[in-house]
Amino acid sequence: MQRNKLSIENMSSKNGGAVQNSKGFNRRRFNQWLAGSSIAGASAAVFGKQRGDNNHVAVIGAGIVGSSIAYHLSKLGVQVTLIERETVASGASHGTFAWINATWAKQPRHYHTFSQQGVNSWHRLQEELDLPIVWGGSLEWFASDSRQARLASDIAEQQAWGEPARMLTSAEAQAREPAVNFNGATQVASSPRDGAIDPVLVSKALVAAAIQQGAQVLERCEVLCVKHSSDHKGKLLRTSCGPIEADRVVLATGPDPAAVKRFGGFDLPQRSTPGVIVVTRPVKPLLRGILVAPGIHIHQRVDGRLIIGEQEGAPDNAAHAARLADRPKRFPNDSVADQHAQRLLSTTRDYVPSIEETEVDEVIIGWRPLPVDGHPVIGPSPADDRVYVAIMHSGVSLAAITGDLVARELAAGVEMALLQPFRADRVFDTKNRY
Ligand SMILES: Cc1cc2nc3c(=O)[nH]c(=O)nc-3n(C[C@H](O)[C@H](O)[C@H](O)COP(=O)(O)OP(=O)(O)OC[C@H]3O[C@@H](n4cnc5c(N)ncnc54)[C@H](O)[C@@H]3O)c2cc1C
Repeated sequence: MQRNKLSIENMSSKNGGAVQNSKGFNRRRFNQWLAGSSIAGASAAVFGKQRGDNNHVAVIGAGIVGSSIAYHLSKLGVQVTLIERETVASGASHGTFAWINATWAKQPRHYHTFSQQGVNSWHRLQEELDLPIVWGGSLEWFASDSRQARLASDIAEQQAWGEPARMLTSAEAQAREPAVNFNGATQVASSPRDGAIDPVLVSKALVAAAIQQGAQVLERCEVLCVKHSSDHKGKLLRTSCGPIEADRVVLATGPDPAAVKRFGGFDLPQRSTPGVIVVTRPVKPLLRGILVAPGIHIHQRVDGRLIIGEQEGAPDNAAHAARLADRPKRFPNDSVADQHAQRLLSTTRDYVPSIEETEVDEVIIGWRPLPVDGHPVIGPSPADDRVYVAIMHSGVSLAAITGDLVARELAAGVEMALLQPFRADRVFDTKNRY
């Protein structure tokens, strides 16, 4: 079998050697981790199969979610094979704005609580792996008075839900972000706990740490089908790089509409939508945090690059539907890509005038993995409890906590209460924001 083992150089990990992969589940390590965790109280009944029979887990998809699951599983001593048909973080985790948040849009309360824990988990992971996360908070405002009034009441709810968010005066906002033109907004919502990452770099750091812990990572290896193993106790994966046997399979396949049906045996209704992301060449320091302004959102990475995302998606018309039918990740040519980049840069200049002429590094069309009700789907397939699903929007905000909780469920058979509302067998009858 040809195996393309990933080697990521120069990735630092404080965790080197923390858990060398032993065959099977590392009970001592797990107990220490469970005892030391602030969310340990969330664990409930024994989950799924008996403990200890998930010695080898195949994770399909090395986006930020799959990479985090592979890292957390290998940290617990589980033998992991992470399989990616392209390269690490080449799907939604490449074309993403990468804002870590638990803001007002995370509704209702249980999803907000999960997102709050998601932010906390990033702090824990940052500490473990020395990750570059910009914790600059976010500033947000709208153009219309009525929407601004609603934002103020949303922020009041945030406060009631334990967030240190508040409405700032324009002078306070200006002091926070001197390079920003707030265009006369008299009030701006501040969510100081928000952060942002370079999702490709962070996914690679998770993968590098997983490898150090004994995980095997196969890039350019496509899973073609998932069947029962010959003894019916596990799964047999047919892949473009040969057969792989595993006790359990995790589908972290992102927005691929067919993967869950093909490999997990059930329909996961998705309303995956595209969004354009522009990445500039590095510019001088301009922004401390994330800006969510009318029509656009912007942040600046530690490497100086500005990340710009549009607020509205593609126009809802037949021509666009035809162009987007095959879910392209790139525009058809450089000239169309540049038109889109200039459109977003022009709006950016309304709010950050000093960027002036900026060179563009990348223009990406990202596709959101978006279960139809807007919430994550995390848990066993209703059709096959040897297949576990982790598909979500806000996968950047939620990757750290998802990896942590999924690893506990799979490694130790402990059901995590925080994940209960997000199981795959729920009724998808609402349409929430995300
Ligand atoms: C425009 C845009 C803006 C966004 N902004 C934010 C934001 O600000 N904050 C936030 O939290 N979230 C945001 N999101 C959502 C977030 O980016 C995603 O939820 C997250 O990246 C999903 O990660 P993932 O690992 O699940 O999926 P992906 O990154 O798509 O990874 C799935 C991987 O599975 C692989 N794969 C699929 N099928 C197979 C197969 N058969 N064999 C092998 N490999 C396979 C794919 O190649 C892919 O690499 C945004 C998304 C978009 C598109």
